[in-house]
Amino acid sequence: MTITNTEPAFRCLSLGAGVQSSLLLILAAQGHLPKIEYALFSDTGWEPRSVYAHLDRLEREVAAPAGIKVFRVSSGNIRRDALDPDHRFASMPLFIKNPDGGDGMTRRQCTGEYKIKPLKAKVRELLGYPYPARIPAGVFVEQWIGISRDEFHRAKDADVRYMRNRFPLLDLDLTREDCLRLLAENGFPDTPKSSCLGCPFHSDRQWRQIRDQSPEEWADVVSFDAAIRAGSARANATGSPLLGSAYLHRSRLPLDQAPIDRLSRAERRGQQLDLLPLADADEDDEPGGCSPWACRGDAA
Ligand code: SF4
Repeated sequence: MTITNTEPAFRCLSLGAGVQSSLLLILAAQGHLPKIEYALFSDTGWEPRSVYAHLDRLEREVAAPAGIKVFRVSSGNIRRDALDPDHRFASMPLFIKNPDGGDGMTRRQCTGEYKIKPLKAKVRELLGYPYPARIPAGVFVEQWIGISRDEFHRAKDADVRYMRNRFPLLDLDLTREDCLRLLAENGFPDTPKSSCLGCPFHSDRQWRQIRDQSPEEWADVVSFDAAIRAGSARANATGSPLLGSAYLHRSRLPLDQAPIDRLSRAERRGQQLDLLPLADADEDDEPGGCSPWACRGDAA
């Protein structure tokens, strides 16, 4: 006879340290939601400093006092790996200018490699069945994912039997605006969006913020952009060089020359400006943060 467990082995939060997952951690810590044992942060090694600072604060002031253990898990440093000829690189979604002048994009593999893989490995380890051990049928964890009502279409079932996804913000019918308000009420008014510092899915507004507010990080992304012009170092070293040129900005211009001062329609509406240059129509929507289970690229 097979006995099927109906209770999870534990509850864990996929903590991206952005708006939605930060609020879930706070609600769980305050007892507004059931207790979670763990919060797992997939670290690509190249998040903005503001995200690491926010994560440290969440751990210190929210998770630890509530007995929630935060694990930072990683399968490498996405920036370093891209420039290392000895490292197999799971590619970022770079904008490509083809030799014939046409436009292309490299396939996105980074979310799976740098966000999902280390998280699944940690869940297996915590369950007591590290890969490649077989996890018995009926053994599962409840994994919380921070998806708010405005992005409900990103909610998906897990692709493995040992994880069952739950979306408490959808159950609570909270929008991103609600989350921002509740974060502010709880002393976290400046919760950043989490994503790699040099993610090609940044909007022009996000590029401007880096340039104008963090010169060191801007110098970092500009030098990375120049360094990947011929594609990944590994591909070049193994004789499969990129045919064309790679860029971080959708204009397919070097980042420090890209037209990032164009305003999106949403920004123009907000500022009631009609005369400043307009960004491309697809710049209208601000991409969300990048989380293992709801990559910002899915909407791009
Ligand atoms: S933030 Fe961008 S570059 Fe980083 S893992 Fe997500 S999609 Fe890839």
